[in-house]
Amino acid sequence: MTAVSSRPDILIAGGGSAGLTAALAIRRNAPDLDVEVIDTAAPGTRRDERASAIAASARRMLEQLGIWPSLADEAQPILSMEITDSRARDVMRPVFLTFDGAVAEGEPFAHMVPNGPLAAALRSAASAAGVTLTAPESVQGFTVAEGHVAVGLASGEERRARLLVAADGIRSRLRSLAGIKTVTWSYPQTAIVANVRHARPHGGVAVEHFLPGGPFAILPLKGNRSSLVWTERREDAEKLVAADDFVFQVELERRFGHRLGAIELDGPRRAYPLGLTLARDFVRPRFALLGDAAHGIHPIAGQGLNLGFRDAAALAEAIVDAYRLGLDIGSLEVLRRYERWRRYDTWQMGLTTDLLNRLFSNDVAPLRALRDVGLGIVDRLPRLKKMFIGEAAGLGGELPKLLRGEAL
Ligand SMILES: Cc1cc2nc3c(=O)[nH]c(=O)nc-3n(C[C@H](O)[C@H](O)[C@H](O)COP(=O)(O)OP(=O)(O)OC[C@H]3O[C@@H](n4cnc5c(N)ncnc54)[C@H](O)[C@@H]3O)c2cc1C
Repeated sequence: MTAVSSRPDILIAGGGSAGLTAALAIRRNAPDLDVEVIDTAAPGTRRDERASAIAASARRMLEQLGIWPSLADEAQPILSMEITDSRARDVMRPVFLTFDGAVAEGEPFAHMVPNGPLAAALRSAASAAGVTLTAPESVQGFTVAEGHVAVGLASGEERRARLLVAADGIRSRLRSLAGIKTVTWSYPQTAIVANVRHARPHGGVAVEHFLPGGPFAILPLKGNRSSLVWTERREDAEKLVAADDFVFQVELERRFGHRLGAIELDGPRRAYPLGLTLARDFVRPRFALLGDAAHGIHPIAGQGLNLGFRDAAALAEAIVDAYRLGLDIGSLEVLRRYERWRRYDTWQMGLTTDLLNRLFSNDVAPLRALRDVGLGIVDRLPRLKKMFIGEAAGLGGELPKLLRGEAL
């Protein structure tokens, strides 16, 4: 016989950064709501050596949720950014565009934060706030009924919740089960991610070299270290990841340059095939998509997780407001508010990153001339640059309260 538990009020499938943030934000602001997060992986069993650029708006939310102080020591502010456009074989990479990275006095537009400590901080804050964390366990399926959603787990248990949130990542099984269609295509590119140590300090400068295979981003970490997001044509990336250390190092140095002195790899190199996935709908009755389950975008602008944070802030606000008004938190009316808030912004970001990647990841002479003139013009227009920095900081549009640093 199946064991049925009538709780929680909200069941979140997927304990990645998006799922945990939503759980924490809801629970801290509506402590009477029972929230459970279920994840397939036991805590600490998946190593993620990556770091993410956390936009200023997301940092304000992490501050509001009480997590930022425990991350501040690991977080490297991005103080400025340089953009170049050249070929891999070019010896010189002239800088076409620079940004000073502050959105306000003493507030950088982004910080680089290692994914491991971020996940650990979110997990421990969610647990301290009373969120039930269940792992390893998997959500297998669900059925929507009058007043609840019945959720089946791999262990054979069943939960009854008022709302099921699918935060189960880019290949979301629950999204398919909900019958939500996506617009999806894969890029002929793979991102190689690795950390490097260098002899000289980076000074908080992030560099993005636009190369014909794709952007090569050098993102500052604490100490004389940087995180690389190195996008290459898929077949070249496969060869590079499989190459011996010497060949990899030579190819790395050709792109990295010598500005920071001698470099050496610090940890493993990993490959991430790239694609675009945008969900056509974000909600169904008693069901909402969150984070990568709703959108997977090109990392050219480092915005994927930031979109997930914005989803978490908007969903938490829609649910907490509805709860305080005594409304049904799983009703379509409540969930549509979340969808209206997030769908347009998500599609806009997804398509902008797609366009940037198409414009820059090639060696077509007229396009190169056009984009370099464009970069040069932007570089001379401080107001436009300020606007771009505001967008990169996630401060544009109608912001949920948490992203403004306000309580719900
Ligand atoms: C190369 C690269 C660089 C990037 N750099 C940046 C950056 O600088 N800044 C940025 O903002 N974003 C960046 N991103 C994007 C960012 O990494 C993702 O958007 C983010 O990790 C997605 O988080 P998530 O919680 O939505 O999903 P995930 O982290 O994928 O979490 C999904 C979770 O769901 C669990 N799960 C799956 N199925 C089930 C199930 N059936 N039941 C229960 N649990 C389940 C999984 O175990 C997993 O823990 C980058 C991405 C790539 C590929």
